[in-house]
Amino acid sequence: MRSTGITAATATPGGDWRTRGACQREPDRLFVTGAAQRAAKLICVPCPVRTQCLAEALDRRIEFGVWGGMTERERRSLLLRRPEVHNWTELLEQAARDHEGGC
Ligand code: SF4
Repeated sequence: MRSTGITAATATPGGDWRTRGACQREPDRLFVTGAAQRAAKLICVPCPVRTQCLAEALDRRIEFGVWGGMTERERRSLLLRRPEVHNWTELLEQAARDHEGGC
């Protein structure tokens, strides 16, 4: 099982998206290092909870592994580029709603 360090106490209210992740059966494949992360993040492409997963990693400043289709390096870079964002969950959910409304 993927070692997220996430417990029921930290689960998102309104449902646990973690049970719907595409990595459910092979979570350890997301915790590789270096160039292997580029291949590993392909697992996330069809994942139905990619937005929630990425938001969790960004909001909690999770440093290790692939989350939401982004490598450690990509998330670090994003956090450095957007220091004004304090709630990634809110931002990404709004972006998803805007995207859905625009189609
Ligand atoms: S986005 Fe990737 S790491 Fe996150 S739950 Fe989905 S498959 Fe797993």
